[in-house]
Amino acid sequence: MQNTLKIRQEIIQYCKLLYDKNLLASADGNVSYRISDKEILITPSGLPMAFLKPEDICVIDLDGNTISGKPSSERLMHLQVFKTCPAAKAVMHAHPPYPVAWSIAYPDSKELPNTCLAEVILGTGRIPIVPFARPSTQDMGDQLLPFLPECRVMILSRHGGLTWGESIREAWMGMERLDHSAQMLYLADMMNGLSHLPQSEIDALKEMRKTIAPKTL
Ligand SMILES: [Zn+2]
Repeated sequence: MQNTLKIRQEIIQYCKLLYDKNLLASADGNVSYRISDKEILITPSGLPMAFLKPEDICVIDLDGNTISGKPSSERLMHLQVFKTCPAAKAVMHAHPPYPVAWSIAYPDSKELPNTCLAEVILGTGRIPIVPFARPSTQDMGDQLLPFLPECRVMILSRHGGLTWGESIREAWMGMERLDHSAQMLYLADMMNGLSHLPQSEIDALKEMRKTIAPKTL
């Protein structure tokens, strides 16, 4: 464990942050990190995310076999990202309230509106709403396929958010951006309905995004 202690501590730090920012409750969510070509560190099943210890973090291989600990039942989703996206070093899953509420309120919506906020267009690109999949099944991974490797920030319909990055920090920034953007859109929607940036501005912002993409800001 000693050679992965720093990464385990970093994972725990971000799990606590997810809890403190109300992006999950209890044992919801999971964070994983690719430590080699074959091995992944991942948070455990059934333990509260706010109080994890380094020894609680599990090791699995890319085929989903457990090497140590009792890994999260949602690991198939993480493995799909690692297998499909060579650049992925970290995957984060949480239950951010505003994006999930959006998918419940607008069940036919295919993505979070990305014509209202410059931060969404510049920081993440489109944020798709991945169709619902039953928890802990391979379907959770399969439903992600149409959106990988393009999208690093996604809403899982009626369930949560999924982000990935070249570092845990990048995955975290995506999750924070996702909830914050959905909260602003919710407030505007409640106040008077959404208004949109002019098309010329949207086009210019999409051009600017090309200088940042595929990374999440
Ligand atoms: Zn979940």
